[in-house]
Amino acid sequence: MPKVSIVKCDDYSEVKAGIEESLKLLGGIKKFFKKGERVLLKPNISDPLPPEKASNTHPLFVKAVIEIAQKTGAEVSVGEASAGGGEGITTKCLEMSGIGKVISETGVTFRNFQEEPFMPRDIPSFKVMDKTDFANAIFQVDMVVNLPKLKTHGLTFITGSIKNCFGCIHPEERKHLHGTFPRREDFTQGLVDIYSFVRPRLTIMDAVVGMEGEQGPSFGDPKKIGLVIAGEDGVAVDAVAATVIGYEPHALPIIKFADERGIGTGDMRKIEVVGERIKDVVVKGFKQHPLFNNKYRKMEGFGSSFVMIPEFTQSKCIKCGTCANNCPVRAIRMNPYPVIDREKCIMCYCCHELCPQGAYQLKIKWLGKKQI
Ligand code: SF4
Ligand code: SF4
Repeated sequence: MPKVSIVKCDDYSEVKAGIEESLKLLGGIKKFFKKGERVLLKPNISDPLPPEKASNTHPLFVKAVIEIAQKTGAEVSVGEASAGGGEGITTKCLEMSGIGKVISETGVTFRNFQEEPFMPRDIPSFKVMDKTDFANAIFQVDMVVNLPKLKTHGLTFITGSIKNCFGCIHPEERKHLHGTFPRREDFTQGLVDIYSFVRPRLTIMDAVVGMEGEQGPSFGDPKKIGLVIAGEDGVAVDAVAATVIGYEPHALPIIKFADERGIGTGDMRKIEVVGERIKDVVVKGFKQHPLFNNKYRKMEGFGSSFVMIPEFTQSKCIKCGTCANNCPVRAIRMNPYPVIDREKCIMCYCCHELCPQGAYQLKIKWLGKKQI
């Protein structure tokens, strides 16, 4: 039975103690980090936004894990390829997130996946992605440690352990998944395919301050959750996190699919929770993604009756061109403000994620007759 630890942490100034405690509950720090072993930490550094926006894994969270691992003598590196794949975007996100400073302070290596080779690999037991190109760094270490942030998401409803592994593949392959499998279920199966290959040895989730509401995973509202959630089974970590913010895990396709495929455990009856009891830490009134509610969920063909489209507010725009430069299918042109070609748009939401001004909102567009 997979074990997931829940430890309270009110503030990032105390996060190191919280992470140490969470690992102790899972069997001890030395169970995971060993002298001389090469460890790649994979935080979420998807957006060019500062820590207070709660979009990326918090820099003090990353720093704490680096220091805990370094103390054991492990060789630590941190890796990411940020959303969008535009030139220099990972470097920009690294700096804006505050994690660049942490890299300098701790002396660890940063593996900018975007600037390194990717390795083509078949994905055994895939559903939609039979093969893809993985960051070389994941093959050059003894273990990958996943450091996701708990947030809402328009396509997957939550982003956590499974979704965070999307950053381990080539940006062009991410566009391919978005463009070839735009339906929610197919796209989600593709994420599970990728997670099934990366399969991090350990997941430590930043749920100290998460993100709630309609504009997640980039411009939702920061929400104090006050927890570190960790485990060896990232699917089980997602299931526990989902429960804490009020979802029944199997109602979320990303957890349901991973569980059904035997890639991890999403059934709370089969997960041993240690540390805090879930009923004591459930976040009351967490603003789930508005696409997720009973009415929609019970619909026949849920997810195929509507799409979320990016809409742009001119008054917020500073005409920086980031959205146009990072649109994977060049659906945005500047004139002098962004103009979206709806025929070309594959609804990858990179524009929404990467706009430094939060000028994009995601709006529901119904396909055909509204069914509810
Ligand atoms: S316009 Fe469409 S395809 Fe381009 S970045 Fe935005 S959501 Fe993606
Ligand atoms: S919408 Fe955002 S990313 Fe696009 S040009 Fe305006 S400010 Fe820049």
